[in-house]
Amino acid sequence: MKVLLRQLPLKRSFALSADYVDGLVAGLPMRKALGADASQAGEGEAELDFYIEGDNVFARGKLDAWVELACSRCLVNLKHSITEELMVTYLPGGQIPNEDGLESDEEDADEGDAEDTYGYEGEEIDVEPLLRERLLLAIPYAPLCKADCLGLCSKCGGNRNNSECGCDRKVVDPRLAALKDIKV
Ligand SMILES: [Zn+2]
Ligand SMILES: [Zn+2]
Repeated sequence: MKVLLRQLPLKRSFALSADYVDGLVAGLPMRKALGADASQAGEGEAELDFYIEGDNVFARGKLDAWVELACSRCLVNLKHSITEELMVTYLPGGQIPNEDGLESDEEDADEGDAEDTYGYEGEEIDVEPLLRERLLLAIPYAPLCKADCLGLCSKCGGNRNNSECGCDRKVVDPRLAALKDIKV
């Protein structure tokens, strides 16, 4: 996923293949939770406009993707859609943004103007680290198939969105249960 500096300015699309997304999300708990029910992990596309000013390269664009995860309550498969605005500055010589840079990034994020800074070496820009990072950050820790998902029954394991099993799920504190048996 590289562009050569001498080709700039340039507009380019980068496809995130099913295999690529699979490799990214394979270790996530809500991906592993699908087990044998897992199908295609997802895919995506990023479109970026590159231009160069002095030695700094700027990239602007968008990442569109989806990933298949398990609902964190009922464990059914869900497709989570991701749309991320991308605003990146690439600094020459593989400069790594320092603490100050990170702090100002956070301030920018508060203003809804998230600007990422990456380094580049030599005559090319590799956008793979950017796309990987933004995709992973956009994946929720506890995804839901729907906001009011009822989850699984703690007694029989049935999906309560499909049918109410009628199990008695009242949690009885074992200490109280013991009291019930005490004859006064
Ligand atoms: Zn659910
Ligand atoms: Zn039940």
